[in-house]
Amino acid sequence: MQNKRVVIANSVGIDSRGYYIMHSPSRWSQGVKNAKDLFTYYPWELAYLSSLLKRDTEHHVKFIDGCLEKFNLEQYKERIALLEPNYIVMEPSTRTLEEDISLALWSKEKFGTKIVFCGQHATAYPEDLLSRGVDFACQGEYEFTVLDILLDKSLDSIRGLYPNQRRELLDVKLLPFPEDEDVRRIDYATPGEPNCEYLEIQMYASRGCPLMCLFCVAQNLYYGKSSHRIRRVESVVEEIKLLKNKYPEMEGVFFDEEMHNADKNFVMELTSAIKKAGLDNLKYNAMCGHWTLDREMLEAMKSAGYYKIRVGVETADPMGAIGMRIGPKNRLDKLEENLKIAREIGMKVYATFTIGGMGSSKDGDRKTGELIQRLVGEGLLTDIQVSINTPLPGSPYFERVKRMGYLLEQDWSKFDGGNFSVVSYPNYSKNEIEENFRYVLKCYDEGLKCQKEFSFKSKLSEDVNKFELSSMKKILFLRSNRMWQVELTADLLKEFSEKIEIDVIGQPQVENILKKLPCVKKIYLYEGGFFTLDNFKKQFDSRFDKKYDAVFIFYNNFRRVGYSEVEAIANSIQAEFVAGVFPDGSLKINHE
Ligand code: SF4
Repeated sequence: MQNKRVVIANSVGIDSRGYYIMHSPSRWSQGVKNAKDLFTYYPWELAYLSSLLKRDTEHHVKFIDGCLEKFNLEQYKERIALLEPNYIVMEPSTRTLEEDISLALWSKEKFGTKIVFCGQHATAYPEDLLSRGVDFACQGEYEFTVLDILLDKSLDSIRGLYPNQRRELLDVKLLPFPEDEDVRRIDYATPGEPNCEYLEIQMYASRGCPLMCLFCVAQNLYYGKSSHRIRRVESVVEEIKLLKNKYPEMEGVFFDEEMHNADKNFVMELTSAIKKAGLDNLKYNAMCGHWTLDREMLEAMKSAGYYKIRVGVETADPMGAIGMRIGPKNRLDKLEENLKIAREIGMKVYATFTIGGMGSSKDGDRKTGELIQRLVGEGLLTDIQVSINTPLPGSPYFERVKRMGYLLEQDWSKFDGGNFSVVSYPNYSKNEIEENFRYVLKCYDEGLKCQKEFSFKSKLSEDVNKFELSSMKKILFLRSNRMWQVELTADLLKEFSEKIEIDVIGQPQVENILKKLPCVKKIYLYEGGFFTLDNFKKQFDSRFDKKYDAVFIFYNNFRRVGYSEVEAIANSIQAEFVAGVFPDGSLKINHE
C-alpha cells in the first residue's frame, strides 16, 4: 500500500460566532466568548490514535490541534493546505460540527482528501454525515477502526465502521503512549486550569466507568456498556517518568479519565509503585467516583502525592438521581463520610453537579444549590463545577427528551452546557433551568464566602496595612473572578473606611449582586463574557477618563495565568496603582 499523508485534526478553536471552543474529556463541549487565553484539554483519544498510526503504519501522520492553536476556520484551512492530506480524521462534537465539516469538505474539494469522522456525532448520525460527503463514519471507540481503514482492510470486515457491527472494547494495554511529537503535552498544562494548582500533564491510567448515567456520552456512545479497564501499573509509572524526564518543569499529573478509582487494588498498587519509583514528589489530581472511596484508599493516594480528587455528585434531588440514572453517585451519606475523611487528611475535593437533567425539578435543583453551599461552606468541598445537563445526540437522554417533546433546539451550537438549556419540561421550563443554574452558582459563591471569609479577610487586612492603602477613597473594581472574592474585598475595604467609593465594571448576570456591594457608587455593565482590551475600548470608549486611587483586579490563580487582558485593561485606566487580589486575600501592587 502506498504511504498516505494523514492529518489527525482536533476541531476548530474558534467558531463562526467568535466563541472559543473547549472540549471536555468526558465529551461535552462549550464555547466561551472573548477567551483568548482559554485553556485547552488534551484531545486524548485523537492523541492515542495518532501515536497508534505512527507505530503501526508507514503513513505520514500529522497531528494538529485547532483548539490549542486557536484556529478559526480560515486559519485552519491555511494550515491544512500546507499538508495536502490524503486523509483527514476528526472527532467533531455536535457543538462544532458545522465548522469541522466545512473544513473537511474544503480539504476534500481541494486535495481529494478522504474524510474520516469519529466520536460522538459520528456515532449518533453516521447516515447524515455520509450523505453530506464524509467518507467514513466510525462508531464508538475508534482507534483500531481507523487503523484498519488506513491499513486498507476490506471495508466490510472493519468493525466499528458504519454500517458494520460495533467493535469490542479495545484493550488499553495495547495502546502506545499518546501523541507527544507534533504537539507537546506540557503545552496543555496550565496552572489554574482546569482547576489544577500545578503544572500538571493530563494522563489516563484507565478507561471507562462501571455506570451508565443517562446523559453520559462516554459510556453510552463511545463504550456502549459498563467498561472500566486499567492499564499496567508499570506502564503508567514509566509514562510519568518519561514525561518528567522530557519536561523537567512538569509539577504533576492530572489523571483525567472517567474513573481512576473504580478498582481499589489498582489504586493501591499504583500509589505504592509511584512511591517506590520516587515519583511521590509530584502532585497528582484524579477523576474519581466518590462511592468507591474509603479511608485506606484516600490515605494511600495522599501518601503518594495526590492532592486533589474530583468526584461527580450531579444532584441532591432523589428524583433527579433516578431520572438521570446516576446510581451510587447519589449516595450522599457515603459522600459526606468520605468528604470528612478527605478534609481530615488534607485531600482537596472538587465536585461536579448538573442542573435541569431528566427527572429534575425547580425545587430539586435548588436543593442541589443548598447542598453545595453547605458542603463548600464547611470546607468539605474545595471547588465545584456546575453544568446545564445537555442531551447530546446519541445519548439515551437525547432520545428520551426528543420522544417526549421536551427538546427545544436543533441548532447544534446551542448544545452548550455552560450557557444554555435546550430542553423545557412541563413542570420545569428552560428559563427556570437557566435561572437555577445562576442560583446554584450563587450558592457556590455563598459557600466560598463562608469557607474563606476569616482567612481571606485576615490576609487582605494585613496587606492593606502593609501597603498603607487605608487612605484610598476612589476605587474601581474589575470583576474578573467569582463574586465571593469581590464581595469579601468590598466588605473589608468598608471596614477600613465608610467613605470609600467603589465603581465596578462587571457582567450583566451579576448586576443584582453588584448593586448590593457596600460602598458601590456606579456599576458599568460589560457585555460579551471575558474581559479583553479591544472589547473594553469598544464598549467604554473614553468614559474612563476619570482618575482612581486604585484599580482592583481579582485573580483565580496565583500565577496570574489567563489575566493578561484584564491587566491590560487595568493599566489603561488612570490610577495611582493596580491592586491584584489573590484567592487567599494577598495583594500585589503594581505602580506602572
Ligand atoms: S459516572 Fe456517569 S457520567 Fe461519569 S463516566 Fe460514569 S457513566 Fe459517565
